[in-house]
Amino acid sequence: MALGPARYLLFAITGLALFFLISRSAIPIPENIGTKLNPSTYKDSFRASPSSQNDASASSGPSKYIPEASRVNATFVTLARNSDVWEMAKSIRTVEDRFNHNHHYDWVFLNDKPFDDEFKKVTSALVSGNTHYGVIPKEHWSYPEWIDQDKAKKVRQEMGEKKIIYGDSESYRHMCRYESGFFFRHELMMNYEYYWRVEPSIELFCDIGSDPFRYMKENNKKYSFVLSLYEYYDTIPSLWGTTQQFMQKHPEHIASDNSMGFLSDDGGKTYNKCHFWSNFEVGSLEWLRSKEYIDYFETLDQAGGFFYERWGDAPVHSIAAGILLKKEEIHFFNEIGYYHVPFTHCPTGEQLRMDLKCHCNPNDNFDWKGYSCTSRYFQVNNMDKPKGYENES
Ligand code: GDP
Ligand code: MN
Repeated sequence: MALGPARYLLFAITGLALFFLISRSAIPIPENIGTKLNPSTYKDSFRASPSSQNDASASSGPSKYIPEASRVNATFVTLARNSDVWEMAKSIRTVEDRFNHNHHYDWVFLNDKPFDDEFKKVTSALVSGNTHYGVIPKEHWSYPEWIDQDKAKKVRQEMGEKKIIYGDSESYRHMCRYESGFFFRHELMMNYEYYWRVEPSIELFCDIGSDPFRYMKENNKKYSFVLSLYEYYDTIPSLWGTTQQFMQKHPEHIASDNSMGFLSDDGGKTYNKCHFWSNFEVGSLEWLRSKEYIDYFETLDQAGGFFYERWGDAPVHSIAAGILLKKEEIHFFNEIGYYHVPFTHCPTGEQLRMDLKCHCNPNDNFDWKGYSCTSRYFQVNNMDKPKGYENES
């Protein structure tokens, strides 16, 4: 009978252990728990949200971490044709796997024609947030009345003969004008504060540890990039002249501490053709909808260079960011490994790449190569090259 009390103790310990086991399994466990967190990158790390227990999607399969409380009012946005569906599927998959499966941000798809059922079905199945499909109003994807369409047609022929990339394409010009001046005012975009542009056929190389939307909001950033380079001059011969006219007409819009040093080597007389590559962008929709930006776009649109030349939305967004924003409102996301043919941004810094499980080859990183403008961005902002650059060419 001397064993009696010991047996009760055993029961008590077993009971206690069982209780802990059961109660732990009832707590939603963040999917990324146990991964090595880099303190600087993950400073706004994840907390389980009580609302995840009421979410219908959390009841099927493994418990999901849904940090709704920390979610910014933001969306992914894609301009695409129905024929882009499979290349878009790849892009969505990479964005979901590396980031959005933990956040469930919405995704807005825009098209100059209605999306077909296949496009909607495939993309909705892949996105973990809500999806919205919008048709672009005709007046945002057609010629303004002041454009001489015969002149525009001749330009396309000439640029085609010169083998200028997309030089002969009419739809590419409408696309560039739309991305420059209209996507952020589509009715589906009006409820959001921030956007992340995603194109077909892109790849993300690293886990996105902290939320770029939150980073933008909390640090008052308005525009961001991962790759920068020089524009093909023949597509933009009069863009800088038109920009100078705008600056003279609207000196009140020009930020005092701007990034002119990124855009020009001679204090603004000429454009050095540096631009942020706009197929990746995380930015503020409110900035694009501001009077400053709209006045700039309208000056460009009146000048006709979207059709009489082949102005790209990348130099347009970049010049706007460079002259209308304060330097510190433009952000470089080193930690977002990214590919869009033919360039790679592979984060600089070996420890960062390991922590974020990057699968890019650092030798492919374009940032510090001659045709990239990213070194210039660092100089203009008095920034040190990211740690690790010393050993990377
Ligand atoms: P690139 O990256 O400059 O070579 O150009 P893309 O072909 O990738 O086009 C840029 C973006 O615009 C992509 O998201 C395309 O899906 C989209 N896009 C291009 N042309 C059209 C078009 O005529 N209609 C629609 N709806 N989307 C287009
Ligand atoms: Mn593209």
